[in-house]
Amino acid sequence: MSVTFYAMTQDGFATKREPCLCAQMSEHFGAFVMGERTDWEVLKPEASPNCQLCGGSGVEEVRVDLRPQVNFANGNAQIILKALGLPHCEQDLYGECDLATMKRGIIRARNVRQPEVLRERIEGKNFIGHGYTREDLADALCRLEDVVTSGEKRGAQRITWS
Ligand SMILES: [Zn+2]
Repeated sequence: MSVTFYAMTQDGFATKREPCLCAQMSEHFGAFVMGERTDWEVLKPEASPNCQLCGGSGVEEVRVDLRPQVNFANGNAQIILKALGLPHCEQDLYGECDLATMKRGIIRARNVRQPEVLRERIEGKNFIGHGYTREDLADALCRLEDVVTSGEKRGAQRITWS
């Protein structure tokens, strides 16, 4: 499982056309995948008339998430939220705050002296548990800051994570 931090921008989602896989035998399929063609109707004769995804048109409408976002593994998100000074518990890694609170959290996390190793690496016989270092945290804070900065430019008021 993982946790994604989102900047809640007004222009959160868009729809986009993609060639449906049922029309992949069309000689034009690749050109649509590459965005080189927009005459979508040429895919219809190659599409499966009973396709559940495109209804036989050969064209799928897909929702695209435009919100600035960054994703972390659950265990890493726990470490990050703790460093940010934001509430968190073991199981329920979701929440929301305004941009100013997140910015303060990032400053706090950078100013608190973190141990070199925040989670030990585990090496078992058939398993390696990745460790988490101060450097990993610094990198995560930069990525999170990018989400806040680009969210702010696009009018976001809040950051959510879930
Ligand atoms: Zn289809």
